[in-house]
Amino acid sequence: MQAIVCHAPKDLRIEAEEQPPALTPGQLRVRVARGGICGSDLHYYQHGGFGAVRLKEPMVLGHEISAVI
Ligand SMILES: [Zn+2]
Repeated sequence: MQAIVCHAPKDLRIEAEEQPPALTPGQLRVRVARGGICGSDLHYYQHGGFGAVRLKEPMVLGHEISAVI
């Protein structure tokens, strides 16, 4: 699996992500169909965050998704 990871302002990298751990009771795994980039993601990319919310470590962008169970 690959992800877009923001390391710092204007520093995006496409990286391979580790396989997720085995599921435990009560969890399910989804297959991401589409992911969106929202205003928060743009602020992380352009300025390293917004207000008091700052990148403290590399972060995968794109948290608004549709998925199939
Ligand atoms: Zn958002």
